Amino acid sequence: MDLTGIPVIDHHVHALRRAHPADAMAYRAAFTESGDPLQLRDHVPHSVYYRWLLREVAAALGCAPTEAAVLEARRAYASPAELARVLWPKANIATLLFDTGFLREQMLSPLEMEAATGIRSFEVVRLEALAEDLIAESRTFDELREAWRAAVGGLRAGGAVAAKSIAAYRTGLAILPVGADLAAAAFRPGRRRLASKPLLDFLLWEAFPLLARQGLPIQFHVGYGDADADQRLANPLHLRGVLQEPSLRDMPVLLLHCYPYVREAGILAATYAHVAFDCSLVIPLGPAGAARYLAEALELAPATKLLYASDAHSWPEGHWLGARVYRKALGEALAAAHRTGYVSAGEAEDDAAAVLGGNARRIYGLA
Ligand SMILES: [Zn+2]
Repeated sequence: MDLTGIPVIDHHVHALRRAHPADAMAYRAAFTESGDPLQLRDHVPHSVYYRWLLREVAAALGCAPTEAAVLEARRAYASPAELARVLWPKANIATLLFDTGFLREQMLSPLEMEAATGIRSFEVVRLEALAEDLIAESRTFDELREAWRAAVGGLRAGGAVAAKSIAAYRTGLAILPVGADLAAAAFRPGRRRLASKPLLDFLLWEAFPLLARQGLPIQFHVGYGDADADQRLANPLHLRGVLQEPSLRDMPVLLLHCYPYVREAGILAATYAHVAFDCSLVIPLGPAGAARYLAEALELAPATKLLYASDAHSWPEGHWLGARVYRKALGEALAAAHRTGYVSAGEAEDDAAAVLGGNARRIYGLA
């Protein structure tokens, strides 16, 4: 199946940096989740993704397929956004939903992104970053609680299309209801990384009903995707208490990345009407297995539950190649299901349109 004509909505992505990478290590860093300098120096250049990426970028920019030549050719563009204007139209990217909580100072804002690239951009607010800002400004726990409720309650009115939590790689996805006394005991004023489980769990359980009231989706980081993550705590099955809560059914839950828990996420998406998921990051980082992951994702979960995302950041190559490899892999997975007779040709086409954009439009209420 050729899906290149279907525009994608990338529902979990990060912005471009304001300036080009200082050197090859900084360039490579956007195409791995490892923060280990030795990994960057000795091993990243030998990954399937990085090798393929260099060849593709070289072909697009008309230079030799070497890292040095690619870095040199990129410098003909004034900024990463200028390069995006060349690459992104080739990938038919319609809409981007940005998590703005990552490397905030070095990244363009959604408004700047839209102005620089001409692609419709929406903001997803990272709850832990918001909480850290409010903790830094609050003198007491009660002040924090009041400010938190006001901020979370006003997200929709402020233009956000979703909230996001990275609890998976802070204190784990077993997010439990906590008494205010325990959370208050864990509160310390000042600017710091929010890594206290009672405090984060309390704030998230305060946020959930406020999100449900606004019909605002929440994205949860799941599985692979940050060197910080203790993968045992990033299994989406830990979310059962949140997913089972009847009063939270109006808060759509999006499970991001999911690798290696693609099957677990598929079970949850197949069980709960308000749960959906994606296979971002491992696609594009693991392109050789992409069709297999997508086939696995769709083994159990209905096609109305899988969304496209790249989780790309920093350099526009990731957003561009993410869309390309995903379309190719989804086409292969759906064609295989059609060949075996499980889906008709028309159903496979409908499923492709749903996964690449229709599901995101429905869940986030995008026009
Ligand atoms: Zn991400």
